[in-house]
Amino acid sequence: MTMLVDSHCHLDFPDFAEERDQIIERAHEAGVKLMVTICTRVRRFQQIKEIAETYDSVYCSVGTHPHQAGEETDVTAEELIELAKHPKVVAIGEAGLDYFYDHAPREAQEKVLRTHINAARETQLPLVIHSRDADEDMMRILEEEMKIGRFPALLHCFSSGKELAMKGLELGLYVSFSGILTFKRSTELREIAAELPMDRLLVETDAPYLAPQPWRGKRNEPAYVAHTNKVLAEALGVSEKEMATATTANFLRLFSKVPQPA
Ligand SMILES: [Zn+2]
Ligand SMILES: [Zn+2]
Repeated sequence: MTMLVDSHCHLDFPDFAEERDQIIERAHEAGVKLMVTICTRVRRFQQIKEIAETYDSVYCSVGTHPHQAGEETDVTAEELIELAKHPKVVAIGEAGLDYFYDHAPREAQEKVLRTHINAARETQLPLVIHSRDADEDMMRILEEEMKIGRFPALLHCFSSGKELAMKGLELGLYVSFSGILTFKRSTELREIAAELPMDRLLVETDAPYLAPQPWRGKRNEPAYVAHTNKVLAEALGVSEKEMATATTANFLRLFSKVPQPA
């Protein structure tokens, strides 16, 4: 079985508290040998870090989700850079813009995003970008910031328009697909995926949210990333194995702090 990676999950969420060991065990059995548990609040980083320290196959990020941007506008790039020195921190984020929910004022979301970009540029750790209903502003900010200096990044849980995907590619970004890709109504998303180069694609669960089609509406978990990989393979017209090989290689290239598996 070709190894898979869940590049984005939230193992600290209470949904998993009772059975984290079993969930990680099930991921391993499904061939998911690496997972990145993503930070949504710097104030909760301690818990995230402890999970990553507990399991060899789990890495983590540090950052503030756009929903929480209003509470963490005071976090500086220096603080993020300092926390990212931990050996298990392999990414910055998730940070970005969410204009669908608008849980935080847009100015706060943009300010926090730019702080995270500074940290990603300085550490050269990939920035995990959350972007929802904010294509125009996201393209503008990414272009402005890339001109200041390059930073590695990925558009996580991609569900935006084609223009943002293409702009992202042009700027050197990777694109990660979640279970949304497998939903019946996601025809347009699968069409966008089919046009993207195979060496820029990643898969993720965003668990506990967004379980792929057979489990839709249920709690998601890292083992299910295999299904998203399968649907992505179908969209691109390649085998599941080829897709797994590509998404894993892409992950290891982008998340360069993760040691190459033996
Ligand atoms: Zn997100
Ligand atoms: Zn997330």
